[in-house]
Amino acid sequence: MSIVRTRFAPSPTGRLHIGNIRTALFNWLFARVNSGSFILRIEDTDTARSRFEYELSIYEDLKWLGLDWDEGPEKGGEYGPYRQSERSAIHKAAAVRLVNEGKAYKCYCTKEQLEDLRAEQASAGMPPRYDGRCRNLAPEAMPSNAPFTVRFRVPEKDIRIMDGVHGLLAFDSRNIGDFVIVGSDGVAAYNFAAVVDDALMDITHVIRGDDHLSNTPRQLLLFEALGLKAPLFTHIPLVLGPDKAPLSKRHGSFSIEDIREQGFLPEAVVNTVARLGWNPGEGLMELDELAALFSIEKLSASPSEFDVERLKFYNKAAIQKSRAERLIELSSLSTAGHPENAAQVVEAVKGNASDLKELKELALPFLTEPETGVEEAKELSEPYARAVVKAFREALEGMAEINLDAYKDMVEAVKASTGEKGKRLLMPLRLALTGRHAGIELAGVLRLLGKERAIDRLRKYE
Ligand code: GLU
Repeated sequence: MSIVRTRFAPSPTGRLHIGNIRTALFNWLFARVNSGSFILRIEDTDTARSRFEYELSIYEDLKWLGLDWDEGPEKGGEYGPYRQSERSAIHKAAAVRLVNEGKAYKCYCTKEQLEDLRAEQASAGMPPRYDGRCRNLAPEAMPSNAPFTVRFRVPEKDIRIMDGVHGLLAFDSRNIGDFVIVGSDGVAAYNFAAVVDDALMDITHVIRGDDHLSNTPRQLLLFEALGLKAPLFTHIPLVLGPDKAPLSKRHGSFSIEDIREQGFLPEAVVNTVARLGWNPGEGLMELDELAALFSIEKLSASPSEFDVERLKFYNKAAIQKSRAERLIELSSLSTAGHPENAAQVVEAVKGNASDLKELKELALPFLTEPETGVEEAKELSEPYARAVVKAFREALEGMAEINLDAYKDMVEAVKASTGEKGKRLLMPLRLALTGRHAGIELAGVLRLLGKERAIDRLRKYE
C-alpha cells in the first residue's frame, strides 16, 4: 500500500476562512489517521493577487489551529520547492514535453480574437469554448515573434471519476474546449501547475471543495497526457450560511484571523469546522481524537451549514476545559493589574464566559480597580442604593469569614434593615463591588475580592 500523502494548496490571495480550513482539516485528519504526510503547497502563481503577507498569515492560522505540516515552503522536504512560483521551470519543461508530443500546441490568438469568438458564441446561444483555430497551424503559419499561450489538445473521450463522496462521475471531454495550460507570460495555469505538482509530489489523495469539480476532468486528462499517476479525488459539498447560500463575506467575516480576534479558541474552530459535512459524534474533541475517527466514506454528500451558535457552544466548552494559565495567556490577561491572582480569578469566572473577550471582561474587576461608567455611577448615587451599600458594608465588617452562609446572612440583614429586595438590593452591591451590571454570582465576587478589598469598594458609594 502506498503511503498516504495529502496536501493543502491555498493561494495567498487573502486570509484563510472557514471553507479553506475545512479543506485543510480534512486533508490533515486523513493524513494523520493513515500515518501519512500532510503537505503545504503555496499556489502563488497569480502574481497580481498573491501577497507574501497572506502566505505568512496562512502559516500563522494553521499553526494556531494545530494543523502542523510535514513538508512546506519554509520547512522543506524531499519534494520541493513547495512554493508554486518556484516551480516554473518544472511546469515549463512539462509543457514543452506535451507540445513536442503533439498533446499541446502554441496558440497565437490575440485577446481581441478570443473576445470576438466569445461574443459570436454568446449571440448564437453557445457556451464559450475555444474553437481550435490554432490546433493544426503549420510551422510556417506560426508568427515568429508573436506572444503565444500553450493550449492542451483535449482528446475526445469519456472521463470517469471515482469520487470519494459523490461516487462515480462521468464527463464528456467533447464539452471541454482546448484550454490554456501556460499563459502568454510563461506562467502555468492553475489546472496544469496543480497536476504537475500533485504528481511530482506523489500526492495520493486530494480532498477539496465542490467548486473544483469542474477542474477535475481537465486535470485527469492532463495526468493521463503526462503519463503521471492521478491522486484519488474527493469533493466536499460547499459550506452554506444560515440563509442556505454559499458562505461568503455577506454572512459576516469568517476569516480565521477575525474569529481569533473575536475571542474564539482554536479547538472551538476545529470542532465546529469538523462538523461541516462530517459527524464524528458529540462533544469537544482533540485533533488526534478526531483523526482517529476520520474516514472519507463518512463524509456527507449534502451541503453543510455554518452555524455561529455551534462555534459559541464549542467555545464555551473549550474555555471550561482549558487551564487558567492558558486562558490568561490567550486573553492577554497576564498584563492586567493583579496578575498574581489571575489564575484563581480565571478559574472562578471561566464558567460564565463564552469567549475570551467575555472572560477578560469578567476577570478584570478583580484584577484592576473597576471603572464605574456614568450610568452605573448614577444608579449608585440613588439614596436607596447608598443605604443598601452602607448596610452591607456594616454587615461585612462584622463577619469573621466570608462563605456562602455568611453571604446569605448578610443579604438577609440588609433586606431587613433597608426594606429593599430583589434587584434593588443586589444590583447596588454588584455595581459597587465590580462596576458592572453583569458577572459571576455575588458570593463568588466577595470570595475573590476578600473582605478588605470589598469593604474599600463599598465605602466609596455609601
Ligand atoms: N489553489 C487552489 C485553491 O486555493 C487549490 C485547489 C486544489 O486543491 O487543487 O483553490
